[in-house]
Amino acid sequence: MLSERLQSELNEQIKHELFSAYYYLAMAAYLDNEGLEGFANFFKVQAEEEKFHAMKIYNFINEKGGRVLFQAIEQPENQFESIIDTFKKSLEHEQFVTKRIYYLMELAIEEKEHATISFLNWFVDEQVEEENLMETHIQKLARVGEEGPGIIMLDTELAQRTFVPPAEGEA
Ligand code: MG
Repeated sequence: MLSERLQSELNEQIKHELFSAYYYLAMAAYLDNEGLEGFANFFKVQAEEEKFHAMKIYNFINEKGGRVLFQAIEQPENQFESIIDTFKKSLEHEQFVTKRIYYLMELAIEEKEHATISFLNWFVDEQVEEENLMETHIQKLARVGEEGPGIIMLDTELAQRTFVPPAEGEA
């Protein structure tokens, strides 16, 4: 059984994860428009991951006998300055999501809600990967610059990315 407060904050987190998907799709659309299909693919796959995060919380709330209630998702920013700008904004956004996960964890600890603590641990680890992923791309992009052969190589590399849902047990 989840407390009202935890249930409500977990529902709010579903919104943040779905907003993340929406935001990454806005970045994909910008990059597709720039003719960068590989970079766009990176963000489309990222959006799939975010939907997976949202559904993971959805399933957890249900397993705990709670009620999933959807909230309004705000309009994401649609305009970006450059390729590196999309990754910098992604990193900022993931840092915000990490803070949200830590906040949820603090509530769960306060309530001694061990099942939720265990569940949230997966997200704590996931956020380390998400932030690192964005940081790595910011570094690579800073090296190669926005124009030139390096960008084409990165675009080709990122076109290969596919969404692989984590296996049950791992997840
Ligand atoms: Mg997420």
